Amino acid sequence: MAVAQLFARDVPDLACPEGTDLLQVLWCPIDHEAGSPRVFLRWRRSADVVDVLADQPEPPLMESNYYLPEPCLLHPEQVVEYQYADLLPERLRERIEEWEEATEHDYQDLSIAEGWKAGGWASWHLTDPYPMMCECGQDMRLLLTVASNEWSAGYTWRPIEDEPTGTEPSYPRTREPTMITIGRGYSLWIFICPRSFEHPHQTIMQ
Ligand SMILES: [Zn+2]
Ligand SMILES: [Zn+2]
Repeated sequence: MAVAQLFARDVPDLACPEGTDLLQVLWCPIDHEAGSPRVFLRWRRSADVVDVLADQPEPPLMESNYYLPEPCLLHPEQVVEYQYADLLPERLRERIEEWEEATEHDYQDLSIAEGWKAGGWASWHLTDPYPMMCECGQDMRLLLTVASNEWSAGYTWRPIEDEPTGTEPSYPRTREPTMITIGRGYSLWIFICPRSFEHPHQTIMQ
């Protein structure tokens, strides 16, 4: 089933294979490896994608309604992220710790954005970070994060459009526009190989 559609013109950092400018993300809404849906990536030319399927083919079976996306429009915003602290050189980590003490800022919270995103860095929550390696030996890069929440209780990444007005419904919550939940509110990361779009992508839940 269709999950996301990203146009290169809306997402400047989306590096597409030559001759394509559109990424379609689909998944099989049944738990596969590591308790998450199986993801399929389709790179296409937007000029070829004209007729909208009014009635999407419905899967006969779903793991749960958490894998059924609520139709949403994207309002992409570009932010600069910084590598997960544990993966930085030790000297730099020490300087960050000093900076955190001096400024009372939280590097972990500020360096990596929450919510759905294309590109950027992965913020490891469930396990210690480990290298995502393609079968060809190349370090993979994060293509897309499918997040359960757009922002969390710390509010650091809450867009100004989502500031509470007091009149929004308590359900669905503004931080969950897609109504997708991965695991117990985790994220599904989709990694691809920078060497070739032909190499299989990998997913991991964190
Ligand atoms: Zn399947
Ligand atoms: Zn590869």
